[in-house]
Amino acid sequence: MVYTCKKCLFMFDRVGLVERCPDCGSENFRPASKDEKAEFERFQKEFNKKSEDRTA
Ligand SMILES: [Zn+2]
Repeated sequence: MVYTCKKCLFMFDRVGLVERCPDCGSENFRPASKDEKAEFERFQKEFNKKSEDRTA
């Protein structure tokens, strides 16, 4: 499940219970909306592609 921190807007993907934002430590976060999740997945894909380029 993807979450968005309401304080710092950091997005993170976690399975199971989440207590705090891994970035700022805030407990004030919510499940990401469908659009936010799509954006997050696109970013992850782009990020993975870049790391592959570096190792190749
Ligand atoms: Zn945060």
